[in-house]
Amino acid sequence: MGKFFDTTPIYYVNDVPHIGHTYTTVAADIIARFHKLQGDDSYLLTGTDEHGAKISQAAEKHNQTPKEYADTISKEFNEAWDKLNINYSRFIRTTDEDHIKTVREFLQKMYDNDAVDKEPRLYKGLYCVGHEKFMSPEELVDGLCPDHKTAPIEYSEENYYFKLSLFQKQLEELISTDQIKIRPETRKNEILGKLKQGLEDISISRANLEWGIPLPFNPKHSIYVWIDALINYYTFGKEKGIWPTDLHLVGKDILWFHSVIWPAMLLSVGEQPPKEVFAHGFFSIGGQKMSKTIGNVIKPEELIQKYGVDGTRYVLLAAFPFGEDGDFSWELFDKLYNGNLANGLGNLIARVAKLAQDNNISEPKNDFAISEEVSQLIQNYHLNAALTYIWNQIADTDKLINLQKPWTLKGGELETALKELILHIKQIAHNLQPFMPETSEKILKQFAGEVTVQPPLFPRI
Ligand SMILES: [Zn+2]
Repeated sequence: MGKFFDTTPIYYVNDVPHIGHTYTTVAADIIARFHKLQGDDSYLLTGTDEHGAKISQAAEKHNQTPKEYADTISKEFNEAWDKLNINYSRFIRTTDEDHIKTVREFLQKMYDNDAVDKEPRLYKGLYCVGHEKFMSPEELVDGLCPDHKTAPIEYSEENYYFKLSLFQKQLEELISTDQIKIRPETRKNEILGKLKQGLEDISISRANLEWGIPLPFNPKHSIYVWIDALINYYTFGKEKGIWPTDLHLVGKDILWFHSVIWPAMLLSVGEQPPKEVFAHGFFSIGGQKMSKTIGNVIKPEELIQKYGVDGTRYVLLAAFPFGEDGDFSWELFDKLYNGNLANGLGNLIARVAKLAQDNNISEPKNDFAISEEVSQLIQNYHLNAALTYIWNQIADTDKLINLQKPWTLKGGELETALKELILHIKQIAHNLQPFMPETSEKILKQFAGEVTVQPPLFPRI
């Protein structure tokens, strides 16, 4: 049976890729690569979410059609993930033909199963276009959306409703028994607390939206962008014959959609809900919320330019415990890079390579697996702790060199000492495979046969 992971959401094309998207995507890639290395048939899905009023408005500003605009931004995401060596199985776009077809079939099935009202209801509400969602009056501050600082639009229109309330008991049961496992545990409790307050039916269509997929049972209405986007997982999973999803890796702001609304939609059409939803934290930038208005958005290219591909993958995951919030600063990332990559790992490799080359010693053994401890940590998504474990192995190997003092040894003793060090390095390189695939490969190649000194893996910055 295949394992199916996704980095979620497929990103909304209103925004170019930034450090937050990068963090989720790299983490998902590490998890999927790990499972592939373990021999699992593993799939990683990412892509872009491209419908909705916000996109048509942005396109208009750029004098483009919504599709042209979506093409441009989607390409930026795709290129960023290619640069970062993200080994995705598919880069899906919600404007892809097969997705549109699946969405329409899915909605028709919801309707046929009586999970959607037969007639639309008149809805009056306050809609924040920035959020692409209705806001309750309590969420507003001085009449404005606190995040977007704009007044929501007063809508009065006919919408079709999904009878979400029907699934409350079933969801409570599935979540409390971990049949839908929500992690970290604190997030599970938040979701259960909110569920117990009751579920309201939700609007799944918009009457005056041109840039969307028409409802199959009433083409005058378009499918609400969030509903359309969630179905992307099913489009892919169904085509690959892998269902349910093993993991949705999401930012904490969209946990409700993935742990309540999406599972209910699946139950309504008789499909299995996801096995696990993991919500990770957010980056603030120097203590401030990252925002285009403040102009403190960090782009993946800036990180790659400074730290390289594997360096970026490392500093992102090494900086904070996975699941918690963290405050980004260049100083922190520089310190991690110089301290742990240029010095820690890079230095160890250079040191042992020099000794091995000078004494013409090699160690051909290469049948390693990822250490059990690292494996356990990755399986439980303690990615940051897994890196800490590997860096302890690096520190231990450094200590071993200082203890053995190979430069004072000769003959058989020297050979035994150096071979032991090379075995340590190979084990470290294997453990690094899911995190830093290119670096791992370089190290293994360097120590595969006759060892030669190579340029530093991570030049100091
Ligand atoms: Zn808003």
